[in-house]
Amino acid sequence: MKITRVAAHLLRSVVKPALLPDQAGLRSLEISAVLVEVETDVGVTGVGESFYRSLEDNRFLAESVRAMGRHVVGKDPLDVSQRWQELYVHVKRSGAYGALSALDEAMWDIKGKVAGRPIYQLLGGKTTPVRAYATYPLGQSIEEAVEGAHWLAEHGFQLMKIPVGRGVDHDRKVVRELVPRLPKGFGLAIDANTTYSFSDAFAVAETASEHGVAWFEEPIEHMDLQGMAELNRRLSVPIAGYQTFNTHYPAVELLKANALDVYQPSLDYVGGVTAAQRVGVLVEAFGKRLVPHTMGPIVNFAASLHVAAAQRACTLIEFPVLSRDVENPGRVHTGTYVTNVEEISLREDGTLLPPERPGIGVEIDWEAVRSVQEAELSVQG
Ligand SMILES: [Mg+2]
Repeated sequence: MKITRVAAHLLRSVVKPALLPDQAGLRSLEISAVLVEVETDVGVTGVGESFYRSLEDNRFLAESVRAMGRHVVGKDPLDVSQRWQELYVHVKRSGAYGALSALDEAMWDIKGKVAGRPIYQLLGGKTTPVRAYATYPLGQSIEEAVEGAHWLAEHGFQLMKIPVGRGVDHDRKVVRELVPRLPKGFGLAIDANTTYSFSDAFAVAETASEHGVAWFEEPIEHMDLQGMAELNRRLSVPIAGYQTFNTHYPAVELLKANALDVYQPSLDYVGGVTAAQRVGVLVEAFGKRLVPHTMGPIVNFAASLHVAAAQRACTLIEFPVLSRDVENPGRVHTGTYVTNVEEISLREDGTLLPPERPGIGVEIDWEAVRSVQEAELSVQG
């Protein structure tokens, strides 16, 4: 079996951009995607997805899919571990981790379709049930956040995550005032997106620890292993991260340093199913938690569910709720081109399951794809 063609579909966002604080101030997060198709000589086609947070950045991502796609055309997608390694040789020089991720997902999709099995079964099968936590938008008052928490709880969520990083006093006030007003049994996690200095993060982490915050995500520069390890050791709030890391290799040093309690690989960026699965294995061996980062497009979300279901260290996954203007926050709304969206949405008991269809298990509406398509780039053998 051989790959005959790789195509990158550059798509416009179907949701309004969300605002996030980061080291450079406020930045806008768009869920415009690059949907990747990998075609084979047996008529089976796989899909995968990545995104770089804006349509303009995604032009670069789509080009890199075409460039990296050259290295898999003519080769067997069923040997996905070997394909991953061959791509990695080029990707570690070019930095095209989004391309590696989407191509890897698409090859796993093919592998599942050929086997007639959902990916999670090929990864070892289902383990513990996976609940979802809601990532909730920035730019709201305490009152609005309290209302949002009750709305989310009514739909089965037990935890929400809000962005912080807007100043120590502001963030401590938010935690102090919000936590006591959350629904019973409903938790709060905070995410600073690498914004803070060590001392400012320490101050926010103290308040978060006092109020039983579920985790403090990316409190400081993500490469500062020592700083994260010190926060993790000195304060009770668990330190979370990994969305900004590529591949499973950096997890080794983070685990040895005890820098994080919660590991959040993002399939669209870490290196697809292959790399996220490997992070999960390492995390499980060290007794830490895997909580995949899924803020992003819809096919990637579905792929993430397979890894979450199959990993023993995973009992929770991110669920993007970018707006209050949706009827049901438990229904995935970051892509309009998947027709079986109810199969990847939140169930009544607050858990999520991957689709039972072969591969990733998403049904793509190609007309809907074309309606948001900005460009298509391809390479063939
Ligand atoms: Mg984050």
